[in-house]
Amino acid sequence: MTFTDLDTSEKLYDVGGERPHDAADTRIDDRLIVKPAGPPPYLSPSSASTFRSCARRWKFRYIDRLPDPAGEAAIAGTFAHRVLELLMEEAGPSRTTDRAREIAREVWPETAEHDDFLALGLDDAEQRRFRWLAWTAIEGLWRLENPAEVEVVANEQKVDTHLGDVPFRGIVDRLEREPGDATGLVVSDYKSGRAPSRRFADARLEQVLLYAAAVEASTGERPKAARLLYLGQCIIETEVTEELITTAVDALGETWTMLNDSVTSETYQASPGPLCGWCPYAGECPEGLAELELRHSSGRIRASAPSLRFVAAAS
Ligand code: SF4
Repeated sequence: MTFTDLDTSEKLYDVGGERPHDAADTRIDDRLIVKPAGPPPYLSPSSASTFRSCARRWKFRYIDRLPDPAGEAAIAGTFAHRVLELLMEEAGPSRTTDRAREIAREVWPETAEHDDFLALGLDDAEQRRFRWLAWTAIEGLWRLENPAEVEVVANEQKVDTHLGDVPFRGIVDRLEREPGDATGLVVSDYKSGRAPSRRFADARLEQVLLYAAAVEASTGERPKAARLLYLGQCIIETEVTEELITTAVDALGETWTMLNDSVTSETYQASPGPLCGWCPYAGECPEGLAELELRHSSGRIRASAPSLRFVAAAS
């Protein structure tokens, strides 16, 4: 289980993953880095999203493979996903909150003994708060649906296909049939973070539309709907249409082209902005550091932004 994100298909280009073909060793500070020599072998939604938000950040993570330790919220979200995955593998009537609690107890050691969790250094009270946070997300599923009625087709379904010219990999949290509709395949993805405002909802749906396209490419069946289940909050859903699929796949193709151009030219543009406050690589990025200092001095960044520690260290 990885905590950095739920898309374990990225392992090859992730820290600790298999040594890439034609890899070249180099050193950054004292760390031995095994760098992929060419473009990545495939694209996942999270890698594409990272590249679009900041090519420099993508380079730090996927080329330099600098660590991107998961925070408390990401680890709690991964734990909640794991519990829901196992719960939805049970027969419908067994999918109760009591059973979810039992599963949570059974799989808790996976989290409690994980290096990323241990690195948080939580004391007993903080661990209780962590478990409460995770449980709130798990229990939030019942506010969105009755899990007993979901006709699950597959949980944690890996997809590995081509979308247009792009080699694409990902993991679909849940594939299901609409109750009473044998033709109504639905792609669903659990989200434990805060639901976006309406303005950003379409952009968030791109991920599940790509999964829907990948399911269609793999099975020949186009899902009817794609859903984001924001646990405890709301469902953001779209019908899967030819137009939406084409738009999402075209955008993925553009990202793939730009990413390959960047890797070939070894040019990774920095995109300083509000997200620098949450970028684990700000200490390695002069543009990001300058942005943080500016935002800090003008009071335009939350005091809780973790990357502000780099500003303190630089001053
Ligand atoms: S600090 Fe900002 S500009 Fe630099 S890599 Fe991170 S997100 Fe990009």
